[in-house]
Amino acid sequence: MQLNLSRANLVKDIIMPQDEENILLILSSPSGAGKTTLTKKIQQKYQNFKISVSCTTRSPRDNEVDGVDYHFVSEKKFKNLIETNSFYEYAKIFEHYYGTLKSSVDQIIKKNDILFDIDWQGTKQLSKFKNLNLVKVYLTTENKKELKKRLISRNQNSLGEVEKRFNSFDEDIKHWNDYDYVVINKNLEVCFKQLEKIIKVEKTLPLFK
Ligand code: 5GP
Repeated sequence: MQLNLSRANLVKDIIMPQDEENILLILSSPSGAGKTTLTKKIQQKYQNFKISVSCTTRSPRDNEVDGVDYHFVSEKKFKNLIETNSFYEYAKIFEHYYGTLKSSVDQIIKKNDILFDIDWQGTKQLSKFKNLNLVKVYLTTENKKELKKRLISRNQNSLGEVEKRFNSFDEDIKHWNDYDYVVINKNLEVCFKQLEKIIKVEKTLPLFK
């Protein structure tokens, strides 16, 4: 008997869930809310997640590695990448440029989920690409006092930079409404569990669309 393949495919589509779709998870927050730590924790636990490595014109910090934390590029090179339309999004933050390269996102998403540590400006720009399976999470501390404490204790920035980052909180938090989820980082482990729940839900949601 000859198998009616088109019929077989139809049945398969109905009764067999497709493979889980890869997601693009954006984590945005005011500077100092714990985003980088959480990003690394997710990547360690979920091997399928790759962190999107942005380009930036700022200088590397002592513990940062070119090509791992960022692609550190000159302003000339960055502007050239803007002109050649190479970015999905870019923004000027604290006097430096930051941007997400289209080529690397398009490559990674074929096989992996992607984690973005980008700001609200980048999130707005990425949201315009309707074909991207974005999940947008805004992370914040309980209050400004807590944020300042963390900015100082992580000891990454000069006092002037701490002040600048702290002062950008009010502008930053205005954009929480552009996100699918808002998570308050009172306790890192609790916060991580919440993110895990979001990932689980969002990875299975497309099966029901
Ligand atoms: P930092 O200099 O502390 O690494 O990052 C400063 C800010 O830039 C953070 O809020 C971070 O999320 C944001 N950022 C990092 N990479 C990108 C990017 O490619 N695009 C945008 N829009 N923001 C980014």
